[in-house]
Amino acid sequence: MPDTLEWQNNTFLKEVERRSGTPVSACFQCHKCSTGCPIGPDMDLLSSQVMRMIHLGEELQVLESQDIWLCASCEACTTRCPMQIDIAVVMDSLRMMAVERKVELPNARGEQFNRSFLQSVSRNGRVFELGMMVAYKLRSRDFFTDAEKTGQMLAKGKLSLLPKKSGSARAVADVFRRAEEEEKKR
Ligand code: SF4
Ligand code: SF4
Repeated sequence: MPDTLEWQNNTFLKEVERRSGTPVSACFQCHKCSTGCPIGPDMDLLSSQVMRMIHLGEELQVLESQDIWLCASCEACTTRCPMQIDIAVVMDSLRMMAVERKVELPNARGEQFNRSFLQSVSRNGRVFELGMMVAYKLRSRDFFTDAEKTGQMLAKGKLSLLPKKSGSARAVADVFRRAEEEEKKR
């Protein structure tokens, strides 16, 4: 554990706690969050390791990690944490910090997928899968991965060709607008 002075001077930890509103410093490395994470097998940095690196002030290493973009915001970690740390919100905060700081990602696919998903939801009030996939392919320039599956899903009618707006599209757009306003105040 960092000594007291190091802990007090950890501006990264302070900022993450302020933005997420959750006590990251209370993490005592029990790893319950990591063992319940459905994405864990695909992550290099597990959620408990992310908490530890925040303790150590490893800002760049955390914000450059593609693992914060792999997180599916399922909240399994949050519900398992004995210290009531909202780890899913911490991951959200880290993604926002990475975008604001224009961090260059070694592999930006998670970030590109995230942007495509949110763009689709903000436009339609819910995700329009085909439109999201096209946006993601254009961003990532990865045109061929899963192309076969897309054809199969289209053939089986699992993907619609046109977006269907949610009845709550306006309310969802309002959520996005308010979130952007809140972000500007930070
Ligand atoms: S919210 Fe993210 S880090 Fe937490 S369990 Fe789900 S995928 Fe894993
Ligand atoms: S479950 Fe909570 S206390 Fe345990 S390692 Fe994860 S964040 Fe830390």
